[in-house]
Amino acid sequence: MQNKIHNNADQAPFEWLTIYCAANAVEANIVKGLFLNNNIDCQLLGESLQGAVGEIPLEQTQVRVQVFAIKERQARQILVNYTQVQQSAPDWVCPNCNEHNGPTFDFCWSCRTPHND
Ligand SMILES: [Zn+2]
Repeated sequence: MQNKIHNNADQAPFEWLTIYCAANAVEANIVKGLFLNNNIDCQLLGESLQGAVGEIPLEQTQVRVQVFAIKERQARQILVNYTQVQQSAPDWVCPNCNEHNGPTFDFCWSCRTPHND
């Protein structure tokens, strides 16, 4: 089957790969939490720039989410689920720290408070 995204065969399995470009740091951390919940190591790029770029509002600063190339397939599957659920279910706000969490989160990404329906 043809991989239409791109072929990573020549890429080291532990190379960081940008898997998702979040609209802002909040969304980036939601995606990061999803990956961490599935034992996928990830890092955020761009988040640290926000302090330096004073004129640009936090909400407009894109943050790239990176995973190891070897985890790309698994991470993409999670992203597919994430975007599907996002369209059908609302975010929830953590009662402990007031952070916004994605609907697929069982625990707050920030303080690990369990989500109670
Ligand atoms: Zn919380």
